[in-house]
Amino acid sequence: MTQLVTGCTLDCPDCCSMVAVPRQDGTLSIQGNPAHPFTQGLICGKGKNFVQRLQSSERITTPLVRRNGTLRKASWDEALSVCAAKIDALRATPEKMLHIRGAGTRGVLFDAAGELPARLRMAATHGSLCDETGIEACKADFGSLNMNHPHDLFNADRIVNWGRDISRSSVHLAKIVNEARKKGTQVLLISPCPSGAAGYADEVITVRPGTDRFLAAAAARRLLTRPGFRQRLLRCSANADAYLACLDAMDEHALLTACDVSTAALEKLTDWYADTDAAVSTLLGWGLQRYIRGAQNVRHINALAMISGHIGKNGAGVFYNISSSRNFNRQWMQDLPEPSRRLSLPRIGQELAGAAPPVELVLCRGINFVNQCPDSHTTAAALRHAFVIVLDAFMNDTAALADVLLPCSLMLEREEIVGSFMHNQINYCAPVFPPPGECRDDFDILDELGSRLSEPVRLPDRETCLRRALDSPLLQTTLSRLRQEGFATAEHPFIAYEGMRTDHQDGLFHCVAELSPDKEDSGDYPFFLLTLISRNTLHSQIPAGMQQGLPELAAAPCAAQAAGIADGEAALLCTPGGQMQVTVRFDPAIHPSAVRLRRGGWVSRGWGANGLTAPLVTDAGEGAAFYSQKAAIKKLQAEPPHPQA
Ligand code: SF4
Repeated sequence: MTQLVTGCTLDCPDCCSMVAVPRQDGTLSIQGNPAHPFTQGLICGKGKNFVQRLQSSERITTPLVRRNGTLRKASWDEALSVCAAKIDALRATPEKMLHIRGAGTRGVLFDAAGELPARLRMAATHGSLCDETGIEACKADFGSLNMNHPHDLFNADRIVNWGRDISRSSVHLAKIVNEARKKGTQVLLISPCPSGAAGYADEVITVRPGTDRFLAAAAARRLLTRPGFRQRLLRCSANADAYLACLDAMDEHALLTACDVSTAALEKLTDWYADTDAAVSTLLGWGLQRYIRGAQNVRHINALAMISGHIGKNGAGVFYNISSSRNFNRQWMQDLPEPSRRLSLPRIGQELAGAAPPVELVLCRGINFVNQCPDSHTTAAALRHAFVIVLDAFMNDTAALADVLLPCSLMLEREEIVGSFMHNQINYCAPVFPPPGECRDDFDILDELGSRLSEPVRLPDRETCLRRALDSPLLQTTLSRLRQEGFATAEHPFIAYEGMRTDHQDGLFHCVAELSPDKEDSGDYPFFLLTLISRNTLHSQIPAGMQQGLPELAAAPCAAQAAGIADGEAALLCTPGGQMQVTVRFDPAIHPSAVRLRRGGWVSRGWGANGLTAPLVTDAGEGAAFYSQKAAIKKLQAEPPHPQA
């Protein structure tokens, strides 16, 4: 058996190409594909260990239909007939049906399966649980979402990493930064929780959570007093006056107090950006935007990079991300009918509870949204009034509420073509394992569901969907070539916004014009609850075996001790929305106003942070402002003494 080229379709920027290598015993080993120009044979633990997920005894491998309150095994014929009858009954009122899809798995065929709910004009969601706020912020500043090629970081003399935990979010970015540092690149990390990325930095500034805009504004104010920088602002931006006015709204002392950064640290940051002989790159973290003022955080950092001239040159650019679909033909999507209405994803619980007319059917795939969206309990309660169809492989917080659960195949079991939100390759992902039991991929399931409707809706065949996606001027490949070679490269300039010319019509940078203070603390909930990315799992794709005991909550020793809690002690994590038990671990590097929980734990196992979070929304792109959630930690009450017999 020859080795097969496949790839990872998880919601990760790296988009690794993989090879399935036969072992002597006939089984397959999943390894990185050394021929891939960007991922170069390196894959992370999430990809390496995915086979264990495929083989998990917790997999759902047959359709399940709820009868008398209990999910019971059913045939595909029965399960799809039940779903088709429900959809037929609501066909004339598509606004009563909601399609929720996520990025738990990605790819051209996964997207193409969405043609069924789109043709039915089911309601859809808007907003984002992750990067949309930052994307909107970058588009507002630059007129598009773009960045230099990640390998341009090798050309940087300095990298300012504004909070990206590259030790967990991207093994390839971590490798690039490591190699750049070996060649002499200096890295300054700015973060409220620096312990992850500090190993990839030469210097660290610890900042109060969500206040990076104040630090960036303070550095910009200083830069603008130095020769040449104000002139660049006036020359390269469309609205310098509005930007300068917002910088003047707070003096330096107020800005530094707001972000809890010393004058010496500000001086260092200013000096880094002020060095016009050096090439300075800016890495935007993917937590900056997860605050109520998330777009302002991103935009003030972008403005600082622009004023300092560190954009559009070798080694100098702002790195957020790129669209993973930018290299594909997406015209077919634009030709689909508009959804009958849109509900906010970050506020989905409230939206479902208050929808008029009510949502009577939910079709969910690629996302465990009860778990992943804020306010899990409101979402779960609202779902009890709808007929819920879930495509999933595990009995997670959303699947447990399904009326019909349709078992789907996972990556390495389904054919896909997928793009990256970091590099310019598209990857072919061959199915290398047969799906277990009766599992089928989303495309197959929704195609058959559509065919069973009283007025059938058929998807185009798979080959057509794959071919039309590749029909793009950016791709010089064919489906058969891609299947053979495993990847194709789309051509894009190595440097984005070369010569400081943005993609706005006027070619200028459009500055942020607001610098909003944070709301005053209530005092009862002094900590920002930061639910950060994990190293070994993505989203809520966490095996039960990893959710034993209590989840760990990192806190600054002084903060925990002030609550009378020792390192390793069980405690209560409380928000106005609820409480959960955690084990407190001291982290001397974390800002004293932050506590950190790794995200994705299941509510049903007592590990789900979103059972505690409110549906807060960011200032652009309807993003979930997860990190603006305030929390307290409290000592567990001692068990009351047992009454005497
Ligand atoms: S999770 Fe990311 S880094 Fe890991 S194998 Fe998949 S694409 Fe590669």
